[in-house]
Amino acid sequence: MDFDFTDEQKAFARSVQEFAEKEIAPGAREREQTAEFPHDIWRKLADFGLLGLPVPEEYGGGGADAVTTTLANEVFARYCRDFDLMIEWGSHTMICAMPIAVLGNEEQKRKYLPDLCEGTRIGAFALTEPEAGSDATAMRSKAVRDGDSYVLSGNKIYISNAPHADTFVTFAKTAGEDGSEGISSFIVESSFPGFIRGKPLNLYTPSAGSDVGEIAFDDCRVPAENLLGVEGQGFYAMLTSLGWERLAFAGFLGAMACNLDDCIAFAKERQAFGRPISKFQLIQAKLADMAVDLEAARLLTYKLAWMFDTGQVIHLQAAIAKLFTTEAALRNALEAIQVFGGYGCMTDENVGRTLWPAKASVIGGGTSEIQRIFIARTLLR
Ligand SMILES: Cc1cc2nc3c(=O)[nH]c(=O)nc-3n(C[C@H](O)[C@H](O)[C@H](O)COP(=O)(O)OP(=O)(O)OC[C@H]3O[C@@H](n4cnc5c(N)ncnc54)[C@H](O)[C@@H]3O)c2cc1C
Repeated sequence: MDFDFTDEQKAFARSVQEFAEKEIAPGAREREQTAEFPHDIWRKLADFGLLGLPVPEEYGGGGADAVTTTLANEVFARYCRDFDLMIEWGSHTMICAMPIAVLGNEEQKRKYLPDLCEGTRIGAFALTEPEAGSDATAMRSKAVRDGDSYVLSGNKIYISNAPHADTFVTFAKTAGEDGSEGISSFIVESSFPGFIRGKPLNLYTPSAGSDVGEIAFDDCRVPAENLLGVEGQGFYAMLTSLGWERLAFAGFLGAMACNLDDCIAFAKERQAFGRPISKFQLIQAKLADMAVDLEAARLLTYKLAWMFDTGQVIHLQAAIAKLFTTEAALRNALEAIQVFGGYGCMTDENVGRTLWPAKASVIGGGTSEIQRIFIARTLLR
């Protein structure tokens, strides 16, 4: 068993670090305070090759495997200190571009992927509805075939990137009332007649994990060629690109590492009772627990990436890695704030910035409860 990255992967990780530190980290905090989409930064991500990193090369991407993509995601998040951007990248690349790369036909891949890689399109993934979150198969959105189009009606909520995206991978029922049968997947452009972009939703803090919004389909006419995969099989098909979706959470490894770096530096510096707080065993225990959580989350996530790259069945590992990594990220954020004491509650410090994104991560992409139910159900089968 080899736990090391290749020399090529290590060199790439160093270049991602340098890029993130030099080009992205400056101004990250200021960007977080605005609702503006950072088009100039997005351009830089495209030019560096991050937007299309795992997309096959023939469609304008970098053709990276899941392990390399995960490494880039972790390192980028650790050094860019822009956690909104981390989630925006995940929504665009891992859950919009990659489902198209995995499930799309040749024409769809040629039409959408080069633009998504170049950043001239912004992608999003729209599954959740006001009445169908954890139970996504209870969705009410419908798609009715009419000549050479489908007419979509319905509402989607909590969609990351929705306020800015123009290309949505979305889902609607083409048949059946219950369950996952009859759910179809579509690529919908915001310019299609009947597409409605709702207002951005107000998250607790501007940095609560990207810009999230609602969209609606008001008899939205979608060309039949934008059906993604086979009609009625959209939900099952989505599971084939699940690995990429789950690996989007690797950004939280970077967020955890970033907080741990900050806590170590702060604990050595900050004095209490005439000593640096790093001398207190209760503070040391926090640092140790943060390091253990990070290492365990890394092992679970990179194992998932390796299983995905080697064509193994990943559903159980994906649920375990998602559950542990996101809950560890939340513990990490809370402990980091605690190490910083009062400073940790101030926006001048970085450590508090990952708290809301981490909290949202144990909800988005399937809540912790749903992951536990799935894991237990698999064990008890
Ligand atoms: C910041 C953010 C970004 C998001 N981005 C996207 C996105 O880009 N695209 C997208 O499609 N969706 C997105 N979501 C939506 C997210 O996937 C859903 O919020 C999530 O799946 C939960 O659905 P819900 O909010 O309707 O909660 P509900 O399903 O109503 O659940 C409410 C509570 O009940 C629990 N619960 C539900 N069923 C059970 C059960 N059987 N047993 C025990 N407990 C249960 C849940 O775990 C939760 O604690 C995002 C959400 C957030 C917060």
